[in-house]
Amino acid sequence: MASCLFYPNSTEDFMPNKTVTIVGAGLGSLATALRLSYKGYQVKIIEKQDKAGGRLHILKKDGFTFDVGPSFFSMSYEFHELFDSIGEPIPFELNELNPLYTVNIQGQDRVFQIYKDLDKLAAEFRGIEDDFETKVRKYLKGAKEIFHDTEYRVVKKNFDSIVGFLASMATVPLKHAPKLFRTFWAELERHFDSEEVKIIFSLVAFFLGATPFNTPSVYNLLNYTELEHDGYWNVKGGMYKIVEGILPLLEKKGVEIIYNTEIVSAQYNKKELVSVTDQNGEVYTSDLFVINADAAWFRGKFLNRPKFSEEKLDKLEWTLAPFTIYLGVKGKIDGIHHHNYFLGNNFRDYADTIFRSTVAPEKPYYYVNVASKSNANCAPEGCENLFILCPVPDLRVKPDWSDADHLVNEIIDDLGERVGYDIKNNILTQVVYTPEHWKDMFNLYKGSGLGLAHGLNQIGAFRPSNKDEELNNLYYVGASTVPGTGLPIVVIGSKLVLERIENEHPTV
Ligand SMILES: Cc1cc2nc3c(=O)[nH]c(=O)nc-3n(C[C@H](O)[C@H](O)[C@H](O)COP(=O)(O)OP(=O)(O)OC[C@H]3O[C@@H](n4cnc5c(N)ncnc54)[C@H](O)[C@@H]3O)c2cc1C
Repeated sequence: MASCLFYPNSTEDFMPNKTVTIVGAGLGSLATALRLSYKGYQVKIIEKQDKAGGRLHILKKDGFTFDVGPSFFSMSYEFHELFDSIGEPIPFELNELNPLYTVNIQGQDRVFQIYKDLDKLAAEFRGIEDDFETKVRKYLKGAKEIFHDTEYRVVKKNFDSIVGFLASMATVPLKHAPKLFRTFWAELERHFDSEEVKIIFSLVAFFLGATPFNTPSVYNLLNYTELEHDGYWNVKGGMYKIVEGILPLLEKKGVEIIYNTEIVSAQYNKKELVSVTDQNGEVYTSDLFVINADAAWFRGKFLNRPKFSEEKLDKLEWTLAPFTIYLGVKGKIDGIHHHNYFLGNNFRDYADTIFRSTVAPEKPYYYVNVASKSNANCAPEGCENLFILCPVPDLRVKPDWSDADHLVNEIIDDLGERVGYDIKNNILTQVVYTPEHWKDMFNLYKGSGLGLAHGLNQIGAFRPSNKDEELNNLYYVGASTVPGTGLPIVVIGSKLVLERIENEHPTV
């Protein structure tokens, strides 16, 4: 077992009181560890992988460096809040995306550049959507209202009961009620005529693993977050700089991180989690525990909760699984930008079937991030590094990925053709992660990339809580507990957990 031990600088500046064991070192864990350790809790993290970050991972191969999962995020101010709350400057440099992304639709010569600047965005849709600017402003006004009317009532709040959650929901202005019963797509249809605008505005839901045809229209607030509110951001030097920025701060506070160590069982009595045990039989005890592994899966697998049995979990809604390709390519590809979506010309059929299809998608829809466009250090000179993400059905639906090569070839051929570059014959390095890899690497339930979906029956008090139902000293943080998935959202989750722990188990 390789381990990395961090000790406090001196006993004077670190007086530990309550001990906390965190299972998993994803971003939710790291943010929780920061908040807790700066409050004086003595934190230990146990991580299955050989490095921290979870899905926010890094891959280095043959001179190329890839961000493995997230490549950008919204709500950058949540990172500022995190570091402000512990009195530290933000330890990495944020970079606002402009344009936000580009969209390529099969059969159309033009590439849509999606800007936050609505004048520039309107120019992209000239000749496609009449009076776009008036329409988009009206659409975003509604989306803005729902964002701000739910932010503190639904998202940034702990709930102890369904009644409490419903009471809080009842304070959301009634004018939003119709949006609960309308789909994301139906809301777009009320505002826009062209398929192009509707499809492009749906992507924020689709690439979050949800089809706009059955996602409630309240989620058009995501269009407000991307197009008006805070836009999209990434990190100078690559997304893993977030993790590299956090680790020294944890070290400063004496947080110990034990790597290459998987928790395989949990021991508990009626009231408390007593310990967790790793694959080598090593037992970890502490006053408190925070689980950063999937909150629903952990309850079923380690606490034997009938409500979270495999049969029950399979009936829940999970986000799509990632099929990811990391390519180091010789030569510079002019026909591609930093963040790109490549879509076919059958959006509705594709979105309708992708969740249920037992075979790999034909004519796949995919996202490509070319980090080397802005970060020269992540590829050798004169080369590009491509991260390709194709959302696919999870392992409940398509359990066997022995045919992965077919999808890889299809995507590489299609991409080469659409950007006018012979990618296939210029590949210097290639790594592929199927949903099976994703499941095994981070214990993602059936390979679901973003964890539990966010339908109205799986948010707030209907989502697995961040406080265990039975064990008084057990908490959860991360994508499948509240408030939900995505980098800024799990950072919010860490704040919600801190609030609970500080109230229920204050230190010193
Ligand atoms: C391909 C992909 C692309 C994405 N793109 C974006 C994006 O662009 N923007 C965005 O905001 N979000 C994106 N996301 C979502 C985002 O990555 C997640 O919501 C977020 O990283 C989840 O963090 P988490 O705290 O839940 O922890 P995770 O990242 O799930 O980490 C949990 C950790 O726990 C460890 N673990 C699990 N079980 C055990 C055990 N038994 N013992 C020990 N350790 C264990 C795992 O190894 C892992 O390191 C993407 C996700 C994927 C998969």
